[in-house]
Amino acid sequence: MSELKTALVTGGGRGIGRAVCLALARGGASVAVNYASGEARAAETAAMIDAAGGHAVIVRADVSVFSECEEMFARVRAELGEVDILVNNAGITRDNLLPRMTPEEFASVLGVNLSGAFHCLKLASRGMIKNRRGRIVNIASVAGLVGNAGQTNYAASKAGVIALTKSAAREMAKRGVTVNAVAPGFIETDMTSPLGEDIRAEMLKNIPEGRFGAPEDVAAAVAFLCSDAAAYITGQVLAVDGGMTMGG
Ligand code: NAP
Repeated sequence: MSELKTALVTGGGRGIGRAVCLALARGGASVAVNYASGEARAAETAAMIDAAGGHAVIVRADVSVFSECEEMFARVRAELGEVDILVNNAGITRDNLLPRMTPEEFASVLGVNLSGAFHCLKLASRGMIKNRRGRIVNIASVAGLVGNAGQTNYAASKAGVIALTKSAAREMAKRGVTVNAVAPGFIETDMTSPLGEDIRAEMLKNIPEGRFGAPEDVAAAVAFLCSDAAAYITGQVLAVDGGMTMGG
C-alpha cells in the first residue's frame, strides 16, 4: 500500500470528484470529501466508501473563500491527519458570449476554479513540504488548452490552473511533492447534462474515440498520478479526452 494516507478532494460529492474519492479510497487512502452546498451527495460518497471498507469524512467549505478553506484543513488535520493527497476538483461554469458576459460571471468562475485551487494548494503545501511527501492533482480542462467559445471565463480559469500546476511543481519538486493537472474533455456529469443534443452531436465529431467520457475515466488518471508509481512525473498536464486535443 502507498505511504500516502490522507486525501482531500474538493467537490467530492458528485461527478468526477465522487469517482476520484472512490478510486483513492480503493487505493487505501482515508478521504475527506469536500462540498459547498451538496451535503447529501457528499454524505452519499462517504457512505459508499465506508460500505466498501474504507474511511471517509465530509467537510463543507466554499473553496473560493480562504477562511473557509483554512477551517476545512484544520478539521481534516484533526480528524484524519496531515493531508498528503490533494485533488483540486471543485469547479463551476457560467457560460456566456463575450458581449453578454458580466464581470460577476467572470469573477465567480475565476474565484472557484482558480483561486479555490490556489487556496487549497497553499494550505496543503506546508505540511507536504515538511513531511517531504505529497501528491497534488488539479483538474483543469481541455478548454484551458485550446479555448472554447462562450467560455472565456472558464477557459481562462483552467489555463490559470495549468500555470499554477507547473509553477507549484517547480517550487516543490525537490521536496518529494508532485503537482500535476488532468485535463478532461467531455465527461458525462451534471456540468455537461444541460447541453442540447445538437451541441453533443457536434462535439462528438471532434472526439476520435467517438464517445463521451465517464467520471471513472478521469478518476483512473488521477489515481495513477497520486500513486507511488508516478513519483517521477511532475508539472504535467494529462488530457483525458478520447483523443480530442492530440497534437498534430
Ligand atoms: P459537477 O458535476 O458540476 O460537480 C461540481 C463539483 O464542484 C460539485 O461537487 C460541487 O459541490 C463542487 N463545487 C462547486 N463550487 C464549489 C465551491 N465554491 N466550493 C467547493 N466545491 C464546489 O462537475 P464535474 O463535471 O464533476 O466537474 C468536476 C471538475 O472537472 C471541475 O473542475 C470541472 O471544471 C472539470 N471538468 C469537467 C468536465 C466535464 O465534461 N464534466 C470537463 C473538463 C473539466 P456541491 O455539490 O456542493 O455543489
